[in-house]
This record gives sequence, structure tokens and C-alpha cells, in this order.
Amino acid sequence: MSQRPIKEEIHWALTAEAGPKCQKLDETLDVDVLVVGGGLTGCRTALGLAEAGTSVALVDSHEIGWGASGRSGGQCNPIWRQTPQQLVEMLGATHGETLIKTTLTAAEDLFSDIKRFGIDCDAVQAGWIQAAHTKKARKNMRTLGRSWAEVGLDIEELEGRAVQEATGSPAYSFALRHSAGGHVQPLSLTRGYARAAIARGASVFERTPITGLERVDGKWRARSGSGEITAENVVLTTNAYSNGLWQGLHQTFHPLVSIVLATKPLDAVQQQEILPGKVTISDSRLAIYFARYDRDGRLIFGCVGSSDNVDAFGGFGRAKRGLKTVFPQIADVPIERKWAGRIAVTPEMMPHLHEPAPGLLAGIGFSGRGIAMTSVMGRALSAKLLGTTTDELPFPILPVKPIPFHGITSRLVPLAAPAMTLKDRFDSMTNGV
Ligand SMILES: Cc1cc2nc3c(=O)[nH]c(=O)nc-3n(C[C@H](O)[C@H](O)[C@H](O)COP(=O)(O)OP(=O)(O)OC[C@H]3O[C@@H](n4cnc5c(N)ncnc54)[C@H](O)[C@@H]3O)c2cc1C
Repeated sequence: MSQRPIKEEIHWALTAEAGPKCQKLDETLDVDVLVVGGGLTGCRTALGLAEAGTSVALVDSHEIGWGASGRSGGQCNPIWRQTPQQLVEMLGATHGETLIKTTLTAAEDLFSDIKRFGIDCDAVQAGWIQAAHTKKARKNMRTLGRSWAEVGLDIEELEGRAVQEATGSPAYSFALRHSAGGHVQPLSLTRGYARAAIARGASVFERTPITGLERVDGKWRARSGSGEITAENVVLTTNAYSNGLWQGLHQTFHPLVSIVLATKPLDAVQQQEILPGKVTISDSRLAIYFARYDRDGRLIFGCVGSSDNVDAFGGFGRAKRGLKTVFPQIADVPIERKWAGRIAVTPEMMPHLHEPAPGLLAGIGFSGRGIAMTSVMGRALSAKLLGTTTDELPFPILPVKPIPFHGITSRLVPLAAPAMTLKDRFDSMTNGV
């Protein structure tokens, strides 16, 4: 079927609530806290601080939500890739137990924030289906699901026909249904947090890249063009768009890419069969396939990509083949838009909280689990600045430790998506469900 050229355009920007009107910084400002990075992490951090009466400025190089937060699949997938026991082994008993407790309420906390701050972001809490694409993945997923169910998450195992009925996909025969999962319009959510922060007194500046950060007379001085902000504390929430503002930070993760396409709205019959009830899905592939609806019934489908250009290394073609694999019944559905964004993947696929200097914090590395977990981090960052002790936080404070040979490995990132796809295909052929 021939189709008009598909626009490379972020779908969420066309359907989002209007953003707050924010100026570029061209003055000198003195605040308690400067937050650098206007994505979900930065906006939630600024909101927590403003709510507590702290004077806070939030800046972004571009617009609020310009980074991953405004490009995201928007799925609230509120567990980690590790079992609770692995978290305790990885983070130690104190932080591990706190993180487990925080994780149990992460989805509820997100959806109740949305209500509490009156954020209009098409929020739907209809569950998330996590599907296994191989026998090995089924075994691991079963272990993961049972371990989280034991500590209190509502997780149901689905087998055979039940998976197909719950997802409309013939591609899987085992899955976990997480009842707390859901989805949001991610740009509207980010803008909503920013608006709520402004309403509580935060100053927000757009088109304000911070180009220099130095310690002067016991305070931080941040420069951006003709503007300057002096702050007791600075929080870096620049995630995969970190650009060397703090030495070594951008070398603590690999900037992988996720690409997304939006189909034409599916008709009512298709919507009853595919992801019925607006449940979301993501799977166990390395080049993870994920899908959900937008508010108008478009299927939003994504996978791992290679660069900011969706088509690089055949990215868009791979996404379309992925759509056909997961939902063959709509293989020929017209695609309206495609886009890409960067995710920060840490070696252990867990976010990092850093305090590389006095009064300087960074919360980055969500490894593709950012919709609920950026709020967990944002709340932790603001709590730390408001006096919560390090031991009470869900994340330990880690040193900024660059990944060995980062210069070489990060240059190979564009090849990761095709390589992962090949491995996924091989695994499906040799170990498929
Ligand atoms: C395509 C895609 C799909 C995804 N799908 C999902 C999903 O379905 N579910 C899920 O849980 N997660 C998903 N994620 C991950 C999730 O969206 C991210 O983890 C999350 O949005 C990260 O938010 P953040 O605020 O930490 O970073 P970002 O939203 O990336 O914000 C960082 C901001 O920092 C700014 N910045 C950088 N340097 C400077 C500077 N020097 N001065 C000022 N500003 C600066 C940038 O302009 C940027 O706006 C997806 C990500 C992508 C890209």
C-alpha cells in the first residue's frame, strides 16, 4: 500500500496541553536551588522544593519537556528489572528496603500526583502487560513477577490464550499483568509539573543552556549567555542530554536511543482486539517493543533506535517490522508520525544519585524506566535538599564513575540497536515461545 511520506515529528507536541510561557534567562538571580534540566526529573524536583517554600529556579536549554520526557512512550512501568532481593544486594539493606517500599507505591504516587496537582495529561491506569518473547525470558519474568508479588505488588501471571486475549498479540505465550501500570501523555505531564511548580513560586526559564558552573564564595554560580544564577545548591537532571557541564557525568551511562511511531487511529473493532481496555505492553527483547494508545486511539509503538534520526541504521524499518511481529493484524496500518529520543542507560540499568561536590546533586540514568521512576528520583532529590538524611533515601549516593572505554563504547551505540535486534531474532528462533 503506498503512503504519503511520514513526518518526523514528535506526536506529543501536537496533542499536549499548552506549556507554561517561560522567558529566556537574561538577568542575575539568587536562589536557594537551581535545577538544570526541564524534564520530568527536574520539574518534579522543582515542584517538591517550591511546595516546601524553597526559592528555586529551573532552566532548560530548549523548552520544558524537550528531552526524553516529551518524546517518551509514556508508559508507567513501575518495577525494576531486578528482584527485590537483588536490589538489596546491589544497594545494601538500608537503601534497598527503602527503594522496595517506594517502588510498591510508585505508580499510585504518580497517578495521585497527577490528581493532586490537577494535571491534564490523559492519564489512564489500566495496567501494563510485560510479555516474554522466549522460554528463557518466561523463566526470568516468572521469577521477577513472583518476587515482587511476594513483597506486595499486584501481579498476575498470564499463559497461552490468556496472553493473547489480554493483548491482542499472537506473539507471546507468557506475560505478567501489573495492575498498577498505565500511561500518560508525557509532554503534558512534564508541562503540568512545571506549571504546578511555577504556581508555587518556582522561576522557570527556557532556551537557557547552562554553559558554566563554578564555586564562588561558598555558592554555585551558573552562567547562560547574558544571564547568571547564584545558588546554594544545584541539581543536575540533564539525563541522556548531559553535555559535559559536570566532568565525567555523561560518561556514567550510554546514551541509547528509543524510536517511536504513531499509527492512524485504529477503528473501534481494532481497539477492542488490540490492547483491550487501553492496557499497555512492553516485552523482554533487548531492543524492547512497547505499545499503548494515545487518547484518540492511535497506537504508539516503539523500539530501540540508533540516533536522533529515526531512519538511521534502518531504525524506522525495524520499528515497522516490530509492529508487524507484535500485531500482524494491523501490519499495513498507515503510520502518521515517527520520532526519536535519548535514554541514559547505566551499566546496572538503575538510576544514579550523585553528590560530586558540596551542594551539587545529580539524578540521572533511568535506563528506559522513567515515567514513574523520575518522580521517585525527583521526590528523593527534593527531600534530600529539604533535610532528609542520605540513609533515608531510596537511592545511595554514588561516586561519578565513568564507564571504562566510554569514548569507544559510546561511538558504537548506533550499532547497538541492529545488533540487539539480530540477537533477539536469533533467540526467538532458537528459544521462542
Ligand atoms: C522515545 C522514548 C520512549 C520512552 N518510553 C518510556 C516509557 O514508555 N516508559 C518509561 O518509563 N520511560 C520511557 N522512556 C524514558 C523516560 O522518558 C525518561 O527516563 C525520562 O523522560 C527522563 O526524564 P529526565 O527529566 O531525567 O530527562 P529529559 O527529559 O531527557 O530532560 C533532560 C533535559 O535537560 C536539558 N539539558 C541538558 N543539558 C542542559 C544544560 N546544560 N542546561 C540546561 N538544560 C539542559 C535538556 O534540554 C532536556 O530537556 C522513554 C524515553 C524515550 C526517549
